[in-house]
Amino acid sequence: MRYPESLLKLTRALSRLPGIGPKTAQKLALHLAFHKEEAEELKGALAGLSGLGVCRLCGNLAEGELCPICQDESRDPTLLAVVETVADLYALERSGEFRGLYHVLGGALNPLEGVGPKELNLESLWPRLSQVREVVLATSMTVEGEATALYLAEELKRRGVKASRLAYGLPVGGSLEYVDEVTLGRALEGRKPL
Ligand SMILES: [Zn+2]
Repeated sequence: MRYPESLLKLTRALSRLPGIGPKTAQKLALHLAFHKEEAEELKGALAGLSGLGVCRLCGNLAEGELCPICQDESRDPTLLAVVETVADLYALERSGEFRGLYHVLGGALNPLEGVGPKELNLESLWPRLSQVREVVLATSMTVEGEATALYLAEELKRRGVKASRLAYGLPVGGSLEYVDEVTLGRALEGRKPL
């Protein structure tokens, strides 16, 4: 059968989203076709994304120059957690245990995929260290995440900054994004000096 072009277009766009297969994409597209109010709301929310950029300091998402965390004066600027992605930052925030600031790398070292230190958001990390007393290496418990933590630990040592790593007990091979907040909170509390 032939589907209306606009429905096909929406289905195709939705199916490109992570975790959405063709069947779910069509289901969502049909739902939106019959619920114009929800479609309008979604349209507005999507348009709002154009005003979203990256925080000049930490690499988190921001609506202005600085993200809400960097703007929050109640947070401890001497404690810095280095994470791979914004999703990992959000996971740590959900744990409610971390009151410092963040630095988002935008990935992890992966020589096989051509990701070296230059490909990560590191140049803006070094100048931040002057006012930092401890860096928590909160990269994933994957081979890449461990390699990144090791690399950073060396660099921080060279610069005379104390580094710690999230406590083990986190699932090996996993991204922080999928760890529950209690486990993540405990891993933060029990972080080990490197
Ligand atoms: Zn920020």
